[in-house]
Amino acid sequence: MKRILYIPFDHLNRDYGVLKTVDPATDQIVIVESARMTTGRPWHKERLFFLISSARHFASELTSAGYKVSYLKAQTTIDGLKRAQTELGKLPIYSAEPSSFVQYQQLAEFGVEFVPNDFFLTTRVDFELWAGKQKSFLMETFYRAQRLRLGIMIEDGKPKTGVWNFDKENRLPPPKNYTWPEYLVHERDEIDLEVCAELELNPTNTWATTRSGALAQLDHFIEHNLTNFGPYEDAVSNDSWALHHSLLSPYLNNGLLHASEVISAALVKYKAGHAPIASVEAFVRQIIGWREYLNGMYWHLGADYKFKNGLTAERKLLPLFQDSSKTKMKCMQGIVSDIETRAWTHHIPRLMILSNLALVTGVNPIEFLDWMREQFIDATEWVMVPNIIGMGLHADGGQLMTKPYAAGGAYISRMTQFCKGCEYDPKLRVGETACPFTTLYWDFLDRHKEEFAKNHRMSQQVAGIKRLSDLPELKLRAQQVLSGLDKGTI
Ligand SMILES: Cc1cc2nc3c(=O)[nH]c(=O)nc-3n(C[C@H](O)[C@H](O)[C@H](O)COP(=O)(O)OP(=O)(O)OC[C@H]3O[C@@H](n4cnc5c(N)ncnc54)[C@H](O)[C@@H]3O)c2cc1C
Ligand code: SF4
Repeated sequence: MKRILYIPFDHLNRDYGVLKTVDPATDQIVIVESARMTTGRPWHKERLFFLISSARHFASELTSAGYKVSYLKAQTTIDGLKRAQTELGKLPIYSAEPSSFVQYQQLAEFGVEFVPNDFFLTTRVDFELWAGKQKSFLMETFYRAQRLRLGIMIEDGKPKTGVWNFDKENRLPPPKNYTWPEYLVHERDEIDLEVCAELELNPTNTWATTRSGALAQLDHFIEHNLTNFGPYEDAVSNDSWALHHSLLSPYLNNGLLHASEVISAALVKYKAGHAPIASVEAFVRQIIGWREYLNGMYWHLGADYKFKNGLTAERKLLPLFQDSSKTKMKCMQGIVSDIETRAWTHHIPRLMILSNLALVTGVNPIEFLDWMREQFIDATEWVMVPNIIGMGLHADGGQLMTKPYAAGGAYISRMTQFCKGCEYDPKLRVGETACPFTTLYWDFLDRHKEEFAKNHRMSQQVAGIKRLSDLPELKLRAQQVLSGLDKGTI
């Protein structure tokens, strides 16, 4: 053996990363299941199951294909690599560039040599070239450059259908009397059951743990959900927890799928005339736009970005995030119990319900980030940090998003079906039955009016405070709501 090829849990793909150049005659593949990763935090068991079972399946598939693989259990990744070097001789270790600053530093200090990380469509160098030319880092500007660079739905340097986006056609509220597609069920095999027994978990059938399962999920999405992805991408329905979302993020993030094959599948369907442009464009935007942009910005903004707390938010994590029975708010009950079940909810609940509540109550960004990292099936450092610190909590003073995504009950009432069954009223901002979101939205604006007055995109909202005749009453109610949320009684 001449080399050790180290495969982290998020590089599970034979065609990318360090395995691109694997030679079965001279390379030993090493995968480390570290105790720090699996027991270091109160991880959601569904998440642990998905990560561990995917890695064990990957190791087993590589072995069956004739590669030499060591799947090691160790206290830490570095302990595992040390053991591999003890057992195999002090061979040089190669890996694709890791996906977080911490892992990059740890592996680099241990002497691991990196090959470029090609699990994204945009290299870190290409992103820096783009970022270096920008005054502000607008996702829309990046997305258009991506469409041009990758030649996706482009003709003569312009978008094929005349416009760059179809937001006006999309973003509809949840439909009434609508039949949502069936969910794809992923059956469990022996490796899955072994992991479940170790974790003492009876898993859902939501998540695949193999490449073939991930490909089946991609096919299912393209066949049953792509057509109506766009119109309902922002809606939240009581009848379906997935709506038309793809459920592909876990596989894109752990390597079982690559962005290029996901995009190709959507474009094939579009070119065959089987999916409308408004939906295909909306989906393509998520992958070549948002996903690539946030990864690029994670590296561009640097390791310290994660610790920003520009709004000096110091509240402890609210009990309702850890236990859906600790609230009477129907929206929070519904979304948190979805997460308790399958470790997933789509981007609008993540942004406009969960993060929105953390933002307007002033939950400490790191506490909220840690909770989301523990709970979500697709949580990885590069994607969580900018989404939460920048987009969700505006803790970066606007480096990523020009204004905070704060909203009152009216938005949630329009885009979800929770409010009808709730004991709070989204239209009320004062009184016992006032919607906590509506009260806290105004309280939040008032608390930060000085900072926000300097932001031209916020000036209208801040000016609205002056028109509130009941501001003193509202401030009083906000204190009651905050104290009730802290106690888990609201
Ligand atoms: C506060 C917050 C936290 C988030 N945390 C994560 C996370 O830990 N992991 C994660 O993968 N996504 C995260 N997202 C982005 C997004 O919510 C999920 O990617 C999406 O809900 C996953 O479900 P899906 O695969 O069905 O997505 P779809 O709606 O079907 O979208 C397709 C794909 O687009 C990509 N995508 C869409 N939006 C984003 C985005 N904002 N950032 C990065 N990729 C995006 C994902 O890869 C996703 O699979 C977060 C968003 C917010 C607002
Ligand atoms: S009324 Fe307010 S708390 Fe109740 S479901 Fe609607 S937004 Fe949520």
